[in-house]
Amino acid sequence: MTFDYDLFVIGGGSGGVRAARVAAATGATVALAEESRYGGTCVIRGCVPKKLMVFASEFSVEMQTAQAYGWTVHAGGFDWPAFRGKLHAELDRLEGVYRKLLKDSGVETFDVRARLSDAHTVTLSTGESYTAKHILIATGGTPIRPDIPGAERGIVSDDIFNLDTLPRTILVVGGGYIACEFACILNGLGVAVTQYYRGAQILRGFDDEARGLVSEDMISNGIDVKLGTNVQSMTPGDSGYIVTPTNGDEKCFDQVFFATGRRPQTEDLGLEDLGVGLGRNGQIEVNEYSQTAVPSIYAIGDVTDRVNLTPVAIREGMAFVETVFKGNPTPVDHDLIPTAIFTQPEIGTVGLSEEAARDIEPVEIYCTAFKPMKSAFAGDTGRVMMKLVVSQATRRVLGCHIVAPGAGEMIQMAGIAIKMGATKEDFDRVCAVHPTMSEELVTMKTPVRAG
Ligand code: NDP
Repeated sequence: MTFDYDLFVIGGGSGGVRAARVAAATGATVALAEESRYGGTCVIRGCVPKKLMVFASEFSVEMQTAQAYGWTVHAGGFDWPAFRGKLHAELDRLEGVYRKLLKDSGVETFDVRARLSDAHTVTLSTGESYTAKHILIATGGTPIRPDIPGAERGIVSDDIFNLDTLPRTILVVGGGYIACEFACILNGLGVAVTQYYRGAQILRGFDDEARGLVSEDMISNGIDVKLGTNVQSMTPGDSGYIVTPTNGDEKCFDQVFFATGRRPQTEDLGLEDLGVGLGRNGQIEVNEYSQTAVPSIYAIGDVTDRVNLTPVAIREGMAFVETVFKGNPTPVDHDLIPTAIFTQPEIGTVGLSEEAARDIEPVEIYCTAFKPMKSAFAGDTGRVMMKLVVSQATRRVLGCHIVAPGAGEMIQMAGIAIKMGATKEDFDRVCAVHPTMSEELVTMKTPVRAG
């Protein structure tokens, strides 16, 4: 049987674009359909604009620090429209880069929605159909709102980059990555932030000590974090919205921002009719090679709801090409993925939390929290934390958790050592870089506890 293409990719985000380009480089004929903007969540409405907003928001503290170091700083207010204009110009530039990368790789692109009509056929919203030997679904995820009265009036992370004006007050709902990052960003930009989280502590699943320290700092930085609290309903008020929370303490906010999770985008792709298995959250079920129950159909990235991070989607795309186009079956390695949460202060983390490790085997915990030189000199009482979770049996470092400015940069390096199987004694053999915060990772001599 002959096909129009060797590969048809649905979705032009980080995973889909990488897989399309790398497959084309093997000599395969490749097409890609994207109904929205090239670059996907990461580039257009996620990691990239978020990180630029993190940088913008950090200047408020930096200016205070500069004053403490003897500088005369005349800070005006933050000009959101000026920043937003530059932000969108940068996103346009990056989208152009993605389009050019595809074009230069010889990938044919269709700027429309696509769905599957059989195991080898993709039908576009224009009505055209194309056949392909392999089909790769990389349609990502989308934010969800909770099922409460009035929730449709709130905003989600996709909306935040397009606001005409910054609100004076905002309620952030949720306690995950997105809620905590944006609570810190908006607080840094001068918005009065309240955060409701329904659980006992924000950032569920991360190391308890790390999330406790971040929560403390968020509160001391001025965020009104209300734990064990959720929204029951919201209605329009004179200006903004009147929110009724579970603790009954009704309040008015200019905006309500739901950061209450994301769901895989699998609706109306024709998957169920073909026998592609979907999980409880609507995610596409795949094996270790990202192959679905239909052999010609593969899926990568957030649409499979494995580890929802851009670099993971990219690696899944590369492993797919290695397996299908290079004859080298390559399972995706989801073990020991370093990651950062861009709160203020940041968390950098890799491997097991203390709590998860203790459930598996006896461990020693090496941990230190201290006031870092730069901010302590400026009179800030905030602390940073460095922590290693070590196996008693093998001495291997099972987890590393850093709470500090720049923790994302530090954990990338620690991640290499831990992925290589470094022991605590390997860390100890490394000479400290002085004076830095991360030198503590190689100078902690005595465990603070074991068990
Ligand atoms: P998460 O799943 O991390 O967090 C969702 C939060 O919303 C949780 O605190 C959850 O509470 C809460 N929640 C869920 N449903 C409700 C509800 N009905 N009412 C109230 N609260 C609710 O999702 P995010 O949207 O924050 O992030 C999605 C994914 O995106 C992340 O898992 C991550 O993989 C990725 N991401 C990564 C970033 C990074 O690498 N820096 C940055 C941003 C996103 P509970 O804990 O009780 O379930």
